[in-house]
Amino acid sequence: MALLARTNLTKIFIAQVYIKPFDDTIPDTKTQLAYPMSKRLYCPQCQFPLKVCLCESIIPIDNSTRLIVLQHPSEVRMAKNTVRLLQLSLARVDVFSGESAKDFASLQTLFQHSITNTAVLYPHEQSLPLEQHASIHNINTLIVIDGTWRKAYKIWQLNPWLWSLPSFHFEQAPNSNYQRVAKQPNSLSTLEATAYALSLIEQRNFQGLNQLQQARQQKGF
Ligand SMILES: [Zn+2]
Repeated sequence: MALLARTNLTKIFIAQVYIKPFDDTIPDTKTQLAYPMSKRLYCPQCQFPLKVCLCESIIPIDNSTRLIVLQHPSEVRMAKNTVRLLQLSLARVDVFSGESAKDFASLQTLFQHSITNTAVLYPHEQSLPLEQHASIHNINTLIVIDGTWRKAYKIWQLNPWLWSLPSFHFEQAPNSNYQRVAKQPNSLSTLEATAYALSLIEQRNFQGLNQLQQARQQKGF
């Protein structure tokens, strides 16, 4: 039955296929854009080109920790669609796009009063290893930054309100499939980092996100 349901779902997606309009306001950079100039058919669900649709690889996960993604605007149109994949996979995820403190004003207000059970995943000189956090299982909100190292650093620098929240890095990051692409030692993709952090916090398996990462890489993204 599950297989049948999935098949029907696929048909629905195909029936709804549309062509993303070309947005000529996007700068022509060397990075891969989600909106290339050519007219390609896209899956309306995962937003990948139809021939590399990842919907079959998405495993819904009922996470109890609220995931908040601070997404740098330059990531919004990136072909990897990380945030979209997180939204399709996780039951509790909120996305805020921006760079400056003003962009995240609503979040700042929220965290002025409730910081104790929040964790920011961002490595810096004062961050602590998440694996050794004594109250790790009390964390109910995890903040991650989606962007290149440079863009994530910019968000960190421009948002001092984040500095008042407990921040963490990984001491024993798992092997990454992403590393060879990132060409940076110990680097995890946002999907992998989220999976590892949530698995530590909730003491359960978030392997579905890693599998999705692998599926995405296999399809060249
Ligand atoms: Zn799809």
